[in-house]
Amino acid sequence: MTQSILSFYFFILGIVLGSFYNVVGLRVPTKTFFQSQRSYCPSCSVSLRWFELIPVLSYIVQSGKCRHCTAPISKMYPLIEMLTGLLFLFCYVHIGIQPLLLEALLFVSLLIIITVSDLKYMLIPNRILLVFLPLFLLFVMWQPNPPWFSRLLGGGVGAGLILLVILFSKGGMGAGDMKLFGLLGLVLGLQNVLIAFFFSTIIGAIISGLLLIIGVIGRKDPFPFGPFIGMGALISYFYGNDIWNWYMHIG
Ligand SMILES: [Zn+2]
Repeated sequence: MTQSILSFYFFILGIVLGSFYNVVGLRVPTKTFFQSQRSYCPSCSVSLRWFELIPVLSYIVQSGKCRHCTAPISKMYPLIEMLTGLLFLFCYVHIGIQPLLLEALLFVSLLIIITVSDLKYMLIPNRILLVFLPLFLLFVMWQPNPPWFSRLLGGGVGAGLILLVILFSKGGMGAGDMKLFGLLGLVLGLQNVLIAFFFSTIIGAIISGLLLIIGVIGRKDPFPFGPFIGMGALISYFYGNDIWNWYMHIG
């Protein structure tokens, strides 16, 4: 009983924070995050009232349109809110109430914010990474698993792998991806950062290949890699050890 109530709370917490992460991801790159301007419709510039800003629900009630000018509201808002809610719920169910849950929620939060920024602006802002760096360093010192030397090596190897991709692919990934992967390595450790790299590049290659074939993107179009790094990192964070054991067993 308590568990289902807590599950529900974590889901709602994720939806509410997801709404905040939309704002962070959209405003930090344009340096408008600390301007206390209320949220407004980008089409008709009307300031939105509180009942137009309820995560997910407002979008459904208003059928995805602005109440004033009927311009469509970006689907990214409710999708990011739902995704954050589901991932927070998953973290709680998977980990339970223990200190590691905080690390997992921070990890998900970082990945959601950079996904918003990268999809919207093709940018992974340094300022976002710099906010999360000291928080993750606390876990490097505090959490014994993975051990601190594995985490530091994971950070270096993660950034190094992306540097190699940048040098050899001439424009596939950018410096933001490299810094992000270094930061993720601090959380994942050496073994799991390799697994995250494997899944990020495979998923990225498959999806960008499909988008190329159906003509959504052109061969020369820049392509945000952040969301795929996020997917690879989550697979590795939650299932990396299982995958590693399975691989060692068949090898
Ligand atoms: Zn409007």
